[in-house]
Amino acid sequence: MKKAQLVFIPAPGIGHLPPLMEFAKRLLLRDDRFSVTVLLMDSPFGGSLSVAYTESLAESNTPISFINLPPPQGLSSFQPEVHKFVEQFVKDFVDAHKDSVKEDIVKNVLSNSNAAPLAGAAHLGLILSLPGRNDRIGKEFDESDDEFVFHTFVNPLPRRVLPLSTFDYKNGGFNAVMVNLGRIFMQTKGIIVNTFEQLESHAIKSLMNDFDHAPPLYVVGPLIDLKGESNLLFWYEAQKGNEIMKWLDDQPDSSIVFLCFGSMGSFGEEQVKEIACGLEKSEIRFLWSLRKPPPKDKFGEPSDYSSRDLQEVLPNGFLERTKERGMICGWVPQKAVLAHKSVGGFVSHCGWNSILESLWFGVPIVTWPMYAEQQINAFHMMKDLGLAVELKLDYANTREVVLRDEKERAIKCVMDSDNDVWKKVKEKSEKSKLAVIEGGCSFGAYGQLIEDLLINM
Ligand code: UDP
Repeated sequence: MKKAQLVFIPAPGIGHLPPLMEFAKRLLLRDDRFSVTVLLMDSPFGGSLSVAYTESLAESNTPISFINLPPPQGLSSFQPEVHKFVEQFVKDFVDAHKDSVKEDIVKNVLSNSNAAPLAGAAHLGLILSLPGRNDRIGKEFDESDDEFVFHTFVNPLPRRVLPLSTFDYKNGGFNAVMVNLGRIFMQTKGIIVNTFEQLESHAIKSLMNDFDHAPPLYVVGPLIDLKGESNLLFWYEAQKGNEIMKWLDDQPDSSIVFLCFGSMGSFGEEQVKEIACGLEKSEIRFLWSLRKPPPKDKFGEPSDYSSRDLQEVLPNGFLERTKERGMICGWVPQKAVLAHKSVGGFVSHCGWNSILESLWFGVPIVTWPMYAEQQINAFHMMKDLGLAVELKLDYANTREVVLRDEKERAIKCVMDSDNDVWKKVKEKSEKSKLAVIEGGCSFGAYGQLIEDLLINM
């Protein structure tokens, strides 16, 4: 039987790859009439993790073929003085692959190409509404407004949660790139949304009702790669993962606050010291994924500290004083940690994958957004959904140091099991698991998507 060939082109970065691969794996598991090819771009921000991840998948028996695209000419790294905003750089970087993508598709697979983003529903609604706003009022965001209404959010978005680049019309930041993305999304034959009905019902309803001519939506999440995780964990174990899991085994249930800031999160020395003091003062047990920023003139993924560098960046004697109740590590198998019974709270940068993972494992979040759309996600989780504890929400000040007392307050609050957020997160955890099994909303939407894909072939 000739199979229907699907081509996936993930955006560069470890945050994009696993949910897309999880989507592909579930598709192949549900229907053997498909085959999947993934075209991979090198990550301009480092990308060793993405490489490890795809290698582990390629070595497993997953029937997915990978093709590495050649790097684009003259655009291999982000230079702050040339490309003012990282959003514009990423767009140019992705665009620069178009010719080789076409060539590869024609050479290796022939298919209908239907773009399909994998995002949350509320943020997707924001992106989809940008082209219309742009056509109606020229600029989408008036700098004098304090808040902006987007139908997929329950509350108006305060100006401060939008990335600063939103208001820069000259240099092609978030704003310009997202208008373009919104147009592309509106022209697709379908949009796959990585969320679930019982989490974002307001946003999903709004996407269905408030957008004229929007393509069909398939709400199939949460797409959490639980199996691939063990591959990545396996890769990690060779280095340090085992030690972390053993240490967690020795801690009391729900006693640990876990701090982890995504694939790109790192802090300057002053902030590191404030976090350390906040942790010490709170007397709560902790596991802290602390990573070293790239050199000042470079933009890219952080790296892990050597033990000597760690001593230098932390307050004097911190490691010794906290050794009974704290552990500092670098890159960490996040899902395995969140799944561990000793972990009771999560200080997170609020990347969408981290949010879905925290809900899946029922670990409440303290929001510490750092880059991209994380400020918006944090606002959504806290104000619209009541599922997170606030640390701070001021985009303009994300470079500012968060003081130890504020940190201590938020951590104590998230670890308190009498807190409403705690109870709601536990409920959502159950619901997220029900959504993806037979009879669940996301499972049903997946079936519909399969049918529609086959009809469209
Ligand atoms: N992650 C991890 N270990 C780390 C940091 C991140 O396993 O030390 C994983 C995390 O579980 C998530 C992904 O990397 O699946 C990060 O995606 P997210 O959307 O949360 O943030 P991004 O890195 O894209 O900003």
